[in-house]
Amino acid sequence: MLPRACFRQRGFLCCALSPRYSGGMVQPRTLGELERSGYRSRPVRDELRGNLLARIARGERILPGIVGFDDTVIPELENAILSGHHIVFLGERGQAKSRIIRALTELLDAEIPVVEGCALNDDPLAPICRECRRRLHELGASLPVAWHAREARYGEKLATPDVSIADLIGEIDPIKVAEGRYLADEETIHYGIIPRCNRGIFAINELPDLTEKVQVGLFNLMEEKDVQIKGYKIRLPVDVVFVASANPEDYTSRGRIITPLKDRFDAQIRTHYPRKLADEIAIMEQELPALDRGELPVHVPEFIKEIVAQFTFEARACNEINQSSGVSVRMTINNYESIISNAEKRAVRLGESEIVPRISDLHAIAASSIGKLELEYAGEERKEIELVTRLLHRAVLAVFDARWQVENLEELCAYFTDGGGVEVSDMTPAVDYMEAIRGIPGLREAVQVCTPIESPRFIAAASELILAGLHLHQKLNCNTEGGRLSYRG
Ligand SMILES: [Zn+2]
Repeated sequence: MLPRACFRQRGFLCCALSPRYSGGMVQPRTLGELERSGYRSRPVRDELRGNLLARIARGERILPGIVGFDDTVIPELENAILSGHHIVFLGERGQAKSRIIRALTELLDAEIPVVEGCALNDDPLAPICRECRRRLHELGASLPVAWHAREARYGEKLATPDVSIADLIGEIDPIKVAEGRYLADEETIHYGIIPRCNRGIFAINELPDLTEKVQVGLFNLMEEKDVQIKGYKIRLPVDVVFVASANPEDYTSRGRIITPLKDRFDAQIRTHYPRKLADEIAIMEQELPALDRGELPVHVPEFIKEIVAQFTFEARACNEINQSSGVSVRMTINNYESIISNAEKRAVRLGESEIVPRISDLHAIAASSIGKLELEYAGEERKEIELVTRLLHRAVLAVFDARWQVENLEELCAYFTDGGGVEVSDMTPAVDYMEAIRGIPGLREAVQVCTPIESPRFIAAASELILAGLHLHQKLNCNTEGGRLSYRG
């Protein structure tokens, strides 16, 4: 922590420069107060470094809530921060890159003093802009000081070919020129987002989508602290930590990024999708938005969570899908939401007391998957639906095989070969499954493998998984129509 003002002042409360009270401490509101408080300013990279070291010393981890990067991304990121590097994250879509970048603000001080009203968040102890230097000269110790929270010290921009130097760095303000200011005077500039992030973090997403001209401007700012605006060289010694993200294929393809700019990003960190199913599940549960479902609790059987995550894993391993753009974790989260919603409709329509998704709800994931899977050979919509169905079958089979062996379910199979049948659907009440359980020999025992017989809805879900697994092992026939499935021998 930085030394804070520890003196107390009384009697200034109605004055414009009155000290602000924060947690019992008084924050300096003028340069004089700031100097007396013993405050020392430091460059952003030193601030990030110092706060990270303090966290490490306390045994705290950075980026709480980011799952699956403990052994890969996080150690590399820590080293980059400790080294004061500008960082580029390379990864396919939906790998939490933006989230990691935004979380870096947590490593900034809670608040820093700035010259009040300065667009560049100037340090009151060492202002860089001409206006602040003039005000400092005029006002001296009474130069007004404001405090900026860490969230206000972060800016981000999605790179597109439309992003201009004016957006990122600045442009000449014709009104100020008309007021009679000299054109090369820095006070004629309307600052863009990067100077406004002075003393903070600036993130640019999809870096390769910037035009070459803008890349050159960015490089000049990072390297020389000089920029050319409309032919005028403007000195802009901003203190900004740059963080970028890019798709690896775009970043490495020749000509997409000018080499000197690439060189300015000292650390290149490769992100990845969760490597373990458990991590994909942890993210999907963590990200599930809390919706008001009235009195109804949501209980999702483990095997359903596994199927949703496994479906994404199957998609990421599928050569019919363009893997260079990737399959986002967002698909997993959206699919999880879809099946819970389908189960919720059932619970509400049938007046059940809990929401328990099951196999007959899985059809609901088509709508939340199709738009997120980029096919290698763009085809008709029918092909996309076929692909989703195939991937879903693989996922169900994998989860079934992890629990049962078909050879141990002979009694159950025999019931169907002998002419038995059963029809289930996403609107069948769970109690109906209790009837079936009694009527189909071997089903009850099979259900017990994966769920303790506790709730009729869990039994319904487990029964459906067993029937689906046997069907995928070609032991049963199945006719499917939406959420209605009829199984025959
Ligand atoms: Zn200033």
